[in-house]
Formats: sequence, C-alpha cells, structure tokens
Amino acid sequence: MSEPILRCMKCHKEYDASQIVYTCTGCGALLEVVIEPPKVTLKEMARRPLRVWRYREFLPIAKETPIISLDEGGTQLYRCDKLAKWAGIRRLYIKYEGANPTGSFKDRGMTLGVTKAKSLGSKAVACASTGNTSASLSAYAARAGLTCYVILPAGKVAMGKLAQALMHGAKVISVKGNFDQALNIVMGISTKMGIYLLNSINPWRLEGQKTLAFEVVDQLGHVPEMVAVPMGNCGNISAIWKGFKEFQDAGITDCLPRMYGVQAAGSAPVVRMLRENLSELAPVNSPETVATAIRIGNPVNWPKAVNAIKESKGAYDAVSDDEIVETQRIIACLEGIGVEPASAASVAGVRKAASIGAMDADAEVVCVCTGHLLKDPEEVISICGKPIEVPPDLKAVSEMLSPV
Ligand SMILES: *Cc1c(COP(=O)(O)O)cnc(C)c1O
Ligand SMILES: [Zn+2]
Repeated sequence: MSEPILRCMKCHKEYDASQIVYTCTGCGALLEVVIEPPKVTLKEMARRPLRVWRYREFLPIAKETPIISLDEGGTQLYRCDKLAKWAGIRRLYIKYEGANPTGSFKDRGMTLGVTKAKSLGSKAVACASTGNTSASLSAYAARAGLTCYVILPAGKVAMGKLAQALMHGAKVISVKGNFDQALNIVMGISTKMGIYLLNSINPWRLEGQKTLAFEVVDQLGHVPEMVAVPMGNCGNISAIWKGFKEFQDAGITDCLPRMYGVQAAGSAPVVRMLRENLSELAPVNSPETVATAIRIGNPVNWPKAVNAIKESKGAYDAVSDDEIVETQRIIACLEGIGVEPASAASVAGVRKAASIGAMDADAEVVCVCTGHLLKDPEEVISICGKPIEVPPDLKAVSEMLSPV
C-alpha cells in the first residue's frame, strides 16, 4: 500500500507525511490527507471494539507507531422517535458525541493529532479554542506527556471546558478578542516557535474525526439519507463527508448521504456565502450566539465544508439562538439526552428544514450532537432558572408537588 500524503486542495502540490505543514506553501490553500483505499471489510474491522481505532486501515498512521488514546469514539447512536415526530420527519437518530472521553467529538481528532505530534518528535502542542478543542487537547497532551498551550477568547468559554483545560495542566492564555483572533495568534506562534498546532486546519486531526461516518455505517447497517452537522470552524462536516467517501471508494458502501450544515444565525458566514452564491467567504466580524462552540466568524475550513455540501447535493441553513435553546431543552426532556447548545443546532436545523418543506418528511436523518450538556452549566441555569427553595419540612415540600 502506498504511504499517505498531503495534497493541496487548490494547486495539488503534494507533501510527504513527515513534513510539518498546515497550509500549502505554494498557494496558501488547505491541505488534505490522501490515502489509498484499503482492502478490508467491515466484518474484519468489527473484530476490534467500536472505537476510532477499529478503522486503523483507514487512518494514516504507520502500524508500528505508538498510539495516544483514551478509547475515544464508539459513541451511541440513539433512535429518537419522539424527537422525529417533533421535528416532522420519519426517522431521526442522534449520534451522541458528548459520550467521548472529554465530552465532545474533538477527541476523535486529538487521538490522531497527538499521536502524530508525538511521532514527529514535537515536545509541545497548541490550539486556539472556543473551549472543546482545548479541553480535548489538554487531556491528550497530558496522556502523551507533552506541554500544552491553549489560547482562549476571554470571557467566552463555557465553564466546564475551561475547567478541563485547567485541570489537565495546560498553560491557558486568555486573549481579549474573539476566537478568530486567537487562531491567528496561535498559527503565528506555532510556526515560529516549533510548537505543533492542533486546530482543525491541521489535516491529520480531521482524519480521526472522519471515523464518525464509519461508525454510523456500522451502527445503522447502511448509509443514512442525510447527516446534519453544526458548523463552526467547519472541520467536522468536512471530515465526516471524507469518511463517507472513503468507505465508498473502498467498496464498503455504495452510496453517499446528503450533508446538512447548520450554523447559528449570529455566526453564519458559510450559510450566507452559499445563499448569496458568493465566490469567497465574507467573514462575520463580531459573531454572537449562545452556542459558543460555533461562535466563529471566519471559519478556516470553509472551502472543505462548501465542497461537502455541494458534492453531496446537501443543504445548509442558520438557526436562531431561541431555536437552539428550545431544541436543546426538547432533546433533554423528550429523549433524556443532554447536549450543549451548539449540538442542538443540528436538530433545530432539521426541524426548520422539515417545516419549510426543504426536507422530505420521509427522510432518515442522523443528527450529530457534538458535545455534552455539562460543558455549559451556566447557560443551563440562565435558561432553566435555579431550583425553588423551601423550608426543610414535609408540608412545605408536599405543597410543591402535584398529586398523581
Ligand atoms: C468544535 C465544535 C463544533 C464545531 O465544529 P467545527 O469542526 O469547528 O465545525 C460544534 N459543536 C461542538 C460542541 C464543538 O465542540
Ligand atoms: Zn497549493
């Protein structure tokens, strides 16, 4: 089998896997990992547990490389009949990425990315983050014994995520700016100081994230008609699409899903670009949304996301914060599944599409719910309010309950 390489999306310049390069040195465009489709069946891979590394043959890491892992992936695929009815479609599944070791899908990418960093001999890793990337990277860096730097937009990171980065021993730096500014800074620093960058502009990280597609095929037994994904920096939707394509190229599946990208209305440059048929992204300068994980005005992976949506004859839309928050609560109350606001955007988008006739009511949709409810407890309290306080006696408490 030939070695995996990196290839520029625009000028097709190629780089070998041992080079530390994040964007094309020729034209500046994004890079993509290219692998030769492996000759392996689902059944052969199914001898290993349902996890990211079940799909080893598809992952561009040499066999003898020691893997840095927390047993990520293998997350639940919940069939949600009540939620489907609420959203107005025949069948809806939630791929519950909150069940990953640090509570978001970022772990799928970090097992690959940190394994890569270690194998390249890097001593330190870094990222800019709206929260979950830093929570994940700090945990994997700890496991690998690497120094970890994270740059966060001050005051805009959910409490749970910040707590994780701090406890796992990352050096946390808060910049008084937004995510897009933090990412520019960390990109400058990493090249200059020889620190390995693990934002989703790093194409190796996306290789881990593509395993979500593989798992859906394994768990469902077929390719779903549509996959709905919240879009922030736009790496995840691109990675998942790549996964479905690679399974088809390897002859494991014989069709592809439509990809549905959902952004928050206050932070929706990709949706605007597609809607207005622009040839370039027009960044949103001050993105605002309750869904802090997708509060990104200048997503670096937009060309890959636009490809995924166009190639798959997919769809795109933006949902308001009210829709996001209502959907988060509905998912939690109807199905018992706790997700963070950004995650609810995928389900909110499906309901919106069904209600305006943009989605076939007969469709079967997998909604990627990207992160865990506990990531953002402050948002929950602000939505649900604090519990009612009463004196510690039987009468006072029983008066609060309704008879059954
Ligand atoms: C990172 C993240 C996203 C956005 O993913 P991108 O790859 O940046 O588009 C969405 N939801 C959650 C919970 C995240 O942590
Ligand atoms: Zn190029």
